[in-house]
Amino acid sequence: MKKNMTRRNFIKASGAIVSSASLGSLLWPVKSFGLGGKPKPRVVIVGGGFGGVTCARYIKKFDTNIDVTLIERDTQFVTCPFSNLVLGGLRDMNSITYNYDAVKNKDGVNVIHDEVTDIDMEKRQIKTKGGQTFDYDRAVFSPGIDFLWDKVEGYSEADVETIPHAWKAGKQTTLLKSQLEAMEDGGTFVMVAPPNPFRCPPGPYERASMIAHYLKTNKPKSKVIILDAKENFSKQPLFTKGWEALYPGMIEWVAGTKGGIVTRADAKNMELHNEAGDTIKGAVINYIPHQAAGTIARKLGLADATGWCPVNQKTFESTLHKNIHVIGDSSVSDPLPKSGYAASSEGKMCAAAVVAAINGIEMPNPSYSNTCYSLVGPDYGISIAAVYRFDGAKIISVDGAGGVSPADADESFRRAEALYASGWYTSITQELFG
Ligand SMILES: Cc1cc2nc3c(=O)[nH]c(=O)nc-3n(C[C@H](O)[C@H](O)[C@H](O)COP(=O)(O)OP(=O)(O)OC[C@H]3O[C@@H](n4cnc5c(N)ncnc54)[C@H](O)[C@@H]3O)c2cc1C
Repeated sequence: MKKNMTRRNFIKASGAIVSSASLGSLLWPVKSFGLGGKPKPRVVIVGGGFGGVTCARYIKKFDTNIDVTLIERDTQFVTCPFSNLVLGGLRDMNSITYNYDAVKNKDGVNVIHDEVTDIDMEKRQIKTKGGQTFDYDRAVFSPGIDFLWDKVEGYSEADVETIPHAWKAGKQTTLLKSQLEAMEDGGTFVMVAPPNPFRCPPGPYERASMIAHYLKTNKPKSKVIILDAKENFSKQPLFTKGWEALYPGMIEWVAGTKGGIVTRADAKNMELHNEAGDTIKGAVINYIPHQAAGTIARKLGLADATGWCPVNQKTFESTLHKNIHVIGDSSVSDPLPKSGYAASSEGKMCAAAVVAAINGIEMPNPSYSNTCYSLVGPDYGISIAAVYRFDGAKIISVDGAGGVSPADADESFRRAEALYASGWYTSITQELFG
């Protein structure tokens, strides 16, 4: 009887799920399921980043009776969000580095530091490099992105020590920063921006802004060139306006058809070659490679020919393999962008879907949100926000919800958005690791 009541409550929640707070209060009764001597249902989550940590913690919040194991390769997580600020000299690495103590101690998630290498889908077992095997009833993969090294002649994984990508925060961020610090005043910083789809659509342009800020302050004769495979980019009018206001003449953006498509890289001579036959030399080069779903997801057959993982956009269950969900950057979840905010939003909804499936409850139709702040300067923030809903078949943007910062905003508005960016970062990292 209690179980039926709870089911009804769950189904009544359909369509009402927007914020994590409301989600939590709607699902709390599910906590009483599965008790009474039965073995605990087991969920194994692969990848302790924005999607994986959120999903692990929310499954435990919704249903304490589920045994949740999070397998993450590294003992510390360095956030890509705000790593551009480290390059700009506004933050240090410590301030964007987190450990998993709270994930273990506050919500009772079993955190294992090991690398997932294999899966047995028949037996429902996940295996690691360290020789461990984990049984699961449901598995969730959130392994982020990895790079495709065969897209440009002359650039391979070995070259990242000379030409860093810094598109996974950590040692690569520190390397790129030290190269900028060693660069002479008057040098050219060249960034190669990736083709779609890729992690964090506004990220390359925020990075160019932050590096321009660093150079303007420390090496004002220097230049920033962005060679872009694309014809346009996220928040382009806002970035362009900000660049004109803060760094006049310093940043040059080159579209794909105007010479932005790089065909060959030469790390030894610090040169790039484009489709037009030009040679572009950089004192520092930041090559952001073509991207695909995390290697492990592709290796285990969770990705299709596109290199990304197709999912049921209501539950994030893989359309290729049952009982396995894929969230975050690896998943095909457009129109949601590949962002930390979206990965976290998907983590919450996937947690609800997993709890519903384990308890035999119908999952209500989900809603999602995303806001991406970018800093053009220390006191100059811009943003894009959107709300999404599942329309019965796929995720769609909700018309009239969200939007971009106004083009004609004054200084105080831009300053306020820079503050909101900090507030956003504090609250999402607190939710993940606090
Ligand atoms: C420069 C930059 C700036 C950004 N700024 C923002 C921003 O301001 N706002 C925003 O919302 N987003 C931002 N992003 C995007 C954001 O970082 C990603 O969208 C987000 O991290 C995706 O979350 P995820 O869970 O898919 O992957 P991740 O957060 O990358 O987590 C994946 C985890 O899986 C682990 N892993 C992978 N394979 C295995 C394996 N086989 N075994 C065990 N563990 C494994 C990895 O070690 C990693 O910890 C930015 C990105 C970049 C590059």
